[in-house]
Amino acid sequence: MDVITSVHQMKGYSARARKTNKKIAFVPTMGFLHEGHLSLMREGKKQGDILIVSIFVNPTQFGPSEDFEQYPRDFDRDSRMAESVGVDVLFAPEASEMYPPDHQSFIRVTEVTRGLCGKSRPTHFQGVATVVGMLFNIVRPHVALFGEKDYQQLITIQQMVKDLQMDVEVVGMPIIREVDGLAMSSRNTYLQPEERKAALSLHRSLKRARELIFNGERGAGHLINEMSEVIQIEPLVRMDYIEICDARTLEPVDRIDRDVVIALAAYVGKVRLIDNFVYHNTQS
Ligand code: AMP
Repeated sequence: MDVITSVHQMKGYSARARKTNKKIAFVPTMGFLHEGHLSLMREGKKQGDILIVSIFVNPTQFGPSEDFEQYPRDFDRDSRMAESVGVDVLFAPEASEMYPPDHQSFIRVTEVTRGLCGKSRPTHFQGVATVVGMLFNIVRPHVALFGEKDYQQLITIQQMVKDLQMDVEVVGMPIIREVDGLAMSSRNTYLQPEERKAALSLHRSLKRARELIFNGERGAGHLINEMSEVIQIEPLVRMDYIEICDARTLEPVDRIDRDVVIALAAYVGKVRLIDNFVYHNTQS
């Protein structure tokens, strides 16, 4: 596995790979890798001739009071994990090269970033779209893989690629969970044992919604109430939102009469966690 830290070298590598007609698969991450990331890499390995993974804790997607400084980092462990799944290039640029002092251009995807996490993290998706746009220009992938764990991020990137005519296929991959159901996240590492237990209520509430939908419930309001009841049982969990939205536009829906995403965010202690599931409505 090659480790590249310079933007110039990464561009050169990709240009050479493209010249020899190699298909480049790309998985952008913020590191502190877990099975969720590795599942994207394994798929990338299947889809491309060359797999490039980036590790970059992107400052512009963190709000001023968020956890940028504390975000967990362990480059040696990450490189061993990446190498174990056959990553060809680990691209780990310096923030000073990605954002030199005169940086002044940003990508804003206006509609799909309005609701859900966009409400409590107003600058987050602009940071995400900007850095992914930059990484696409540097790495020049044919295909890029993203997890459905960050569903709104996936939709934002798909919208950006479509709107800006970027030549890359964006593939969404299923959420990987711990055996007890907690969605894997680098932030889970912050959880104290009691909080870790309380965090299970997020997945429990999604399972409750799924069960109700499969039993015929179609009212979004009722489903949301039932889900908040499951979560409110845990005093360590503070809801940010539970929303049911059109799976493509992310507009809230009143009824489950199309493909929807049931998404939530909550603070468990100081840690903000998200989870969701996508319900495919067979009648739509
Ligand atoms: P992050 O390092 O948190 O920015 O995540 C990098 C990529 O891994 C994103 O596309 C995430 O959606 C994806 N990812 C993170 N956690 C999971 C998970 N539990 N299952 C599937 N994909 C995930």
